[in-house]
Amino acid sequence: MYQINENYQKLPGSYLFSTIGKKVAAFQEENPDKDIIRLGIGDVTQPIAPAIIEAMHKAVDEMGDAATFRGYAPDLGYEFLRSAIAENDYKARGCDISADEIFVSDGAKSDSGNIQEIFAVTNRIAVCDPVYPVYVDSNVMAGRTGTYDPKTETWSDVIYMPCTAENHFVPEFPKEVPDMIYLCLPNNPTGTTLTKDQLQLWVDYANKNGAVIIYDAAYEAYISEDNVAHSIYECEGAKTCAIELRSFSKNAGFTGVRLGFTVVPKELKCGEVSLHSMWARRHGTKFNGAPYIVQRAGEAVYSPAGKEQLAKQVAYYMNNARTIKEGLKDAGFDVYGGVNAPYIWLKTPDKMTSWEFFDYLLEKANVVGTPGSGFGPSGEGYFRLTAFGNYENTVKALERIKAL
Ligand SMILES: *Cc1c(COP(=O)(O)O)cnc(C)c1O
Repeated sequence: MYQINENYQKLPGSYLFSTIGKKVAAFQEENPDKDIIRLGIGDVTQPIAPAIIEAMHKAVDEMGDAATFRGYAPDLGYEFLRSAIAENDYKARGCDISADEIFVSDGAKSDSGNIQEIFAVTNRIAVCDPVYPVYVDSNVMAGRTGTYDPKTETWSDVIYMPCTAENHFVPEFPKEVPDMIYLCLPNNPTGTTLTKDQLQLWVDYANKNGAVIIYDAAYEAYISEDNVAHSIYECEGAKTCAIELRSFSKNAGFTGVRLGFTVVPKELKCGEVSLHSMWARRHGTKFNGAPYIVQRAGEAVYSPAGKEQLAKQVAYYMNNARTIKEGLKDAGFDVYGGVNAPYIWLKTPDKMTSWEFFDYLLEKANVVGTPGSGFGPSGEGYFRLTAFGNYENTVKALERIKAL
């Protein structure tokens, strides 16, 4: 009789977005005339930029001609894309990352879930709280997290680093030294980030303690302040302790197109063992490459026209972020984020729980957001609004909130 991977049985239900969906549907049914504005889910709304669409059309035509047809892509990704990434995302920022340290994938969600495979199950992981759920859940599936306590909503073998207004959303070095440290900066859900100097301290800490940092930079394109690093490799010594994950989802609207990459520097070694070789082996064994058409689309992200169009797209969302942040401030809320990320994190008023505020906002303003408690226990009493909606709706939502 076969047995299943029992670790999956340990996973608590992921009720967040399904509960939101159900509550919104029920409200709409009872109030069919109400115009609900959704500032909840972190998906983009602007269409793919013209320079990228043009590159995709061209690649589609190539696939229809025997002379230019492409089959399986190279394991690590096409050279044209990896070179464009190395030049634009790294060399241009003074980071010495070469094309063969870049592994092209179908997105940062898969990479952030898969990367734990090359590490021992006995490693202790540390995560920020609140956190993007993939980091913890993928480690639960691997059997690395111990037992779940539904009361505290925490795992016995996970080290949590609370990020709240009290510590300005800057994780503190934990009492117990972790082996693997997940950092997502700029952060989803809090919309806050660390300065380059603060990040350097984490790099130093990891090098000193023999820990590896899994650095999720999915929101890098939204950084507006000069003292914030776009890549962890801007920090000295990061190449011996950090893996960086990137995505084309938020900077170029590829949430449906699917493209991302992971950087594993050749200098990153556990004793004598190269993590680069391990990830190359894993990638080559379990992944057959991102589509040619999509990799050409990715290349166009770095073309002059692509860059210009995407800068406008990011500016559009960040104008929404400003609108939300200023609007909430005017209405008397305590608000965070929204400067280097498309998320606004607010403190719920009058000591409401995250879900109480969700219901209140839905019923009184017909605006949907995301309860902070859904991202971890330290998210309780907070609430996330996204800047990924359209401008008109964002303005309307804020007018309603101000009128409460
Ligand atoms: C959106 C997001 C990603 C991107 O995932 P893709 O699979 O590339 O679409 C990665 N990490 C975080 C924290 C995100 O919010």
